Amino acid sequence: MSCPGNGAIWCLTVIVPLHGRMEHEFARPNLKGCTAELKGVERMTIAFLKLARKLLPVGLYNGLISVAYLAKVVISLGGTVRQTCPICGFIGRFSAFGLPPRFNARCPKCRSLERHRLFVLCDVKHELLNTQQSVLHFAPEEAISTFISGRVRDCTTADIESGQADLQLDLENVDLPGAAFDVVIANHVLEHVDDAKALKEIFRILRPGGRFISMVPIVEGWERTYENPSIRTPAEREHHFGWRDHVRYYGRDYRDRILRTGFQLEEFGASGAECAKYGLVRGDKVFVGTKPGAVASLGD
Ligand SMILES: [Zn+2]
Repeated sequence: MSCPGNGAIWCLTVIVPLHGRMEHEFARPNLKGCTAELKGVERMTIAFLKLARKLLPVGLYNGLISVAYLAKVVISLGGTVRQTCPICGFIGRFSAFGLPPRFNARCPKCRSLERHRLFVLCDVKHELLNTQQSVLHFAPEEAISTFISGRVRDCTTADIESGQADLQLDLENVDLPGAAFDVVIANHVLEHVDDAKALKEIFRILRPGGRFISMVPIVEGWERTYENPSIRTPAEREHHFGWRDHVRYYGRDYRDRILRTGFQLEEFGASGAECAKYGLVRGDKVFVGTKPGAVASLGD
């Protein structure tokens, strides 16, 4: 590989891919395996950067590394590996999503995110949905709406905002009769609302044997959910709870909240290999609460 004359291209093609490796080299200088893989210009680049580290003022060297890091981030926004979308079948690079960006997150064809693909994978593996179910989908996600509609008997969508779904409903006070649906789906919704009220309402509108399927942002390392009534402004909520209109950050006790409502609980995730193949967030779970009682008879 020859060294291009243009400095910017040289930076992007040589320094950027090596940036991570450089950090590793400096951190573990005796790791022979890494340097053994390097050849030609790669070795020269490492030698150049090591020399620059010795000769340049700290500020200038850090600036050089920062530029390389920034360029690496920009390049990675378009995806770093080929992955497979289980929803639309796309195979290729997924784009970044969110701030700070999550790399390899969004399928460019169906625009699904990690949680959408996990939902579909869990349904395919565990048959959460079937053609006999009547479903209510809160805050419907475009990436999985078509999939859900094709899997069940009928699907009604609902949102607290008017014009966003079939029904305008407040999840804390649902204006529907009891035992009306076989399945309620609410992904990344409960962290926005009074979840005790919402869970009670979801339990009420489900038929006996019905399922509540949910996903939430959760920190499995926390025994208890983080809630703080002194946090009120959007900026404070983003800092404390991860998003401007979240009102808590769940810990492991999310399960207790579902169980306390009266549901029986199952949870489903993906293996490490599946996370790598389908672009999933490692450790993400699909929670399925089942209302005790007989499964609703068909065609009721
Ligand atoms: Zn897709």
